[in-house]
Amino acid sequence: MRETEPKVFLVGETRVVDEGLSAYLAHLGVESWTTDAPSDAERLSEVMGRLCYRSFEPGLNPNVTRVREGNARYLANILASRHGSVLEHAMVNFIFADVSRVFTHELVRHRAGTAISQESLRFVRLEELSAWIPTHIRESEEAMELFVRTYEQLEQVQRDMARLFEIDHEKQFDRKKKLTSAFRRLAPDGLATTIGWSCNLRTLRHILEVRTDPHAEEEIRLVFGKVFEVVQKRYPNALGDYIVETVDGLPWVRTEYRKV
Ligand SMILES: Cc1cc2nc3c(=O)[nH]c(=O)nc-3n(C[C@H](O)[C@H](O)[C@H](O)COP(=O)(O)OP(=O)(O)OC[C@H]3O[C@@H](n4cnc5c(N)ncnc54)[C@H](O)[C@@H]3O)c2cc1C
Repeated sequence: MRETEPKVFLVGETRVVDEGLSAYLAHLGVESWTTDAPSDAERLSEVMGRLCYRSFEPGLNPNVTRVREGNARYLANILASRHGSVLEHAMVNFIFADVSRVFTHELVRHRAGTAISQESLRFVRLEELSAWIPTHIRESEEAMELFVRTYEQLEQVQRDMARLFEIDHEKQFDRKKKLTSAFRRLAPDGLATTIGWSCNLRTLRHILEVRTDPHAEEEIRLVFGKVFEVVQKRYPNALGDYIVETVDGLPWVRTEYRKV
């Protein structure tokens, strides 16, 4: 058995197409409009928000005599007035590696604004079993011994099944797949696996709030604590209202503007 630690990789994010945005601004008659957004995700959110009222500059809409200058002030107002729909335009793409099926099962309950690609354990045959070990188990020598012994026994079960059905000599991939899927039923829920996960910034905020909460499960708190470390620096204005408190050694990401 191999002990692992959940890992968070930010592998993609929204990019603005400058030529297209410039052409749109020229179409509107505000070709000189710029913003100080620290990321394309926040620049795009600002543009999508401002187009609603034509609030790029005063007078463009005769009803608008003043506009909020700057991306930080603009997005802070979006959060305070809970107009979170503009944050749905920007996407972030992650790969979470060495996370358990306990974690992935909880993660996929979040449906709105997400996209998911999960490692297939019908196709990928298990050999060595890896797992992250929760604090309560790690703190007890006896529990650790039981945990590791159980994993080693289950690894042996995988090897015994493979030998029993001679899967290494199987030529038909379809049968291999059926056998692999049958064997995985004997794998533990804590098994380390990989999931590709994308979401928009509005969804990201909601999930950071509910999954770093001390009432959430330890592993998902750990993973979304790591997610926050990555996104906080990258999208400081879209997440500028958050305060962080450490509870049980993990960050609890809180705001007065929950679920914008
Ligand atoms: C601490 C904790 C404990 C939990 N315990 C359990 C448990 O014991 N058992 C269990 O089954 N689940 C449990 N869950 C999962 C929980 O019930 C939700 O399924 C999960 O958090 C997904 O969040 P969401 O409902 O906000 O949906 P998301 O998909 O994240 O959607 C975000 C928001 O969009 C809106 N929305 C999304 N889909 C719809 C829709 N179809 N119709 C209308 N509005 C929609 C809602 O406002 C929703 O809050 C737990 C979650 C947490 C954080």
